[in-house]
This record gives sequence, C-alpha cells and structure tokens, in this order.
Amino acid sequence: MTIDLHTHSRVSDGTASPRDLVHAAAAAGLQVVAITDHDTTLGWDEAAAAAVEAGVALVRGIEVSTRFRGAGVHLLAYLPDAGDAALQEELSRIVRGREDRVPTMLARLRELGIPATEEALAASAGDSEVTGRPHVADLLVRLGVVRDRDQAFAEYLSDGGPAFVDRYAPELPAMLSVVRAAGGVPVLAHPWGRGSAHVLDERAIAGLRDQGLAGIEVDHLDHDPGTRDRLRAIAQRLDLVVTGSSDHHGTGKTGHDLGCETTAPDQLARILDLAASLGSPTTLIGKAELT
Ligand code: AMP
Ligand code: ZN
Ligand code: FE
Ligand code: FE
Repeated sequence: MTIDLHTHSRVSDGTASPRDLVHAAAAAGLQVVAITDHDTTLGWDEAAAAAVEAGVALVRGIEVSTRFRGAGVHLLAYLPDAGDAALQEELSRIVRGREDRVPTMLARLRELGIPATEEALAASAGDSEVTGRPHVADLLVRLGVVRDRDQAFAEYLSDGGPAFVDRYAPELPAMLSVVRAAGGVPVLAHPWGRGSAHVLDERAIAGLRDQGLAGIEVDHLDHDPGTRDRLRAIAQRLDLVVTGSSDHHGTGKTGHDLGCETTAPDQLARILDLAASLGSPTTLIGKAELT
C-alpha cells in the first residue's frame, strides 16, 4: 500500500486544485493521500469529493505554522474536526498574519527597484486562500528577476533576506493542545529540515511528546540518510509514530513528486486509531475497504 501523508494544493502554495491533486495522487498509484495545505482546511471538501470519484483514500490534514524557541516549526495536524472553533480561530490568526505582511514585502522589493505591485501579485497568487512567500517568489519569477522559487528564496525571501518580513505564528506547545482538543493527531513536519533542526533535539522532542506530540515525519527529502536514521531511533525510543511523505507542491517545488516518500500502513493505522480515541469526527474517506 502506497501512502503519502503531506501534500499541498493551490488553496495554499501548491499548484493543482484540491480535485486535481487527488486525481493526480490516484494516477500516481497512491492508495492513500493526505491533503495538508498550510494553515487552512478550505481544500478539504473538494478533495473529499474527488477522493470518492478517484478511488483513493483521503486523510484530511493541515500543515500549521508554529513557533518553538524562536524558530519556525511546521506541525502536521491529521484528521481534526474542521468545525472546532478554537482551531479555526487560531488558523485565521495565522492566515491573517501571512496576508498582513505581504504589502510590506512588496514595498521592500520596490525599494530594491523591482516592480512588485499588489496587482501583479494577485495575478501570481491566483485563487490561493493563503498567500505566502511562495507566491511572492512566483511573482519574482514572472518578472524575470529570478529563475525559480528556490532562487527567489535564496536571494530575497528566506528568513533574514532583504524582502523577508516576520509574521504571527502560535507557540508549538499551545498548538499541540489546540490540535488534540479538536481530535487531531499532531506530527512534526520535516523536524530536521531547514530552519528548525537546531531547536528540535531529542530532549525537546521528548518534551513535546509529553505535551501531546504523536509523531515525526522522518522520510522527507530535506533529511539525508543519516538524519533519517537518527530521527527513526528517536521515534523508537519515544514511541512516536513515524511518517514519510513527498511534501508535494505541484510544479512549485521540484523533486517532490507524489509518492516519492511514503508512510508504512501500521503507522497510518496508529494515526487513525489516535484520531478516533481523541474523539475526532473526521476519518479516512474515499475507499471503503481501508476505513
Ligand atoms: P510562508 O509560510 O509564507 O512564510 O512561506 C513558507 C513556505 O515557503 C514554506 O512552507 C515552503 O512551502 C516554502 N519555502 C520555504 N523555503 C523555500 C525555498 N527555499 N524554496 C521554495 N519554497 C520554499
Ligand atoms: Zn508550502
Ligand atoms: Fe513545511
Ligand atoms: Fe509542506
């Protein structure tokens, strides 16, 4: 069984609609795919309808932007109740924070002589509900300033870069509580990928486990083989769920093809059991024999 538990649609910064993402997952031979757009559940209904059509099982999730010891940390939240008021309130705050900084980022770029206007950005961000740095990166590509998103981040947008502007994110331990109270299963995304490795050592992960963390994403392209071995050992010592996933962003991120990294079926089973025991009304949808 091929299971990919971390993908993005154009509701955040992927490039396919939720429907097309789910159909692409089926075409790529996946049996289970999770939609995990940044900080929103807005793609869930469209993805769920498509999963039934396409004959692929869908895990509804979110990749939540949080902060831990001053660093940005991404938290995957699987199968929470999308109707949970505290969860949606926190997600709205994050999305507002993302949008509020965009005019400042554009103004910084204009100071650098780049004609980055709101109108031009709207053309790049399309119908995305969550405008982020990747959309500003796409604008820089369209303006011919850089070759691709990676170069845009390297030269302008990455933390501390000339057009970087910080934004609101909830503290990770607080978000663990919000996710669990909504029946969701919290899993650290790419914990030793760019940005967060230095704050997430084994002691920190153990502390987070005691505060409700359920698992860590080990098999991710940001982790080299040695990193994966060390993370897998930590997960085993701490009895955490181990996941693997593509972090697919459509054509927005090269190399992250659907199913290029996968999660073992027994680990998905643990996630489903946990969501049920946390009282979540959300479960796997779209393939009866898996539910
Ligand atoms: P934001 O949430 O608006 O701060 O944007 C962060 C998002 O940008 C991340 O979740 C990634 O999807 C994407 N991103 C971060 N760094 C890079 C990079 N070097 N190249 C391409 N995309 C990136
Ligand atoms: Zn992204
Ligand atoms: Fe991420
Ligand atoms: Fe992601």
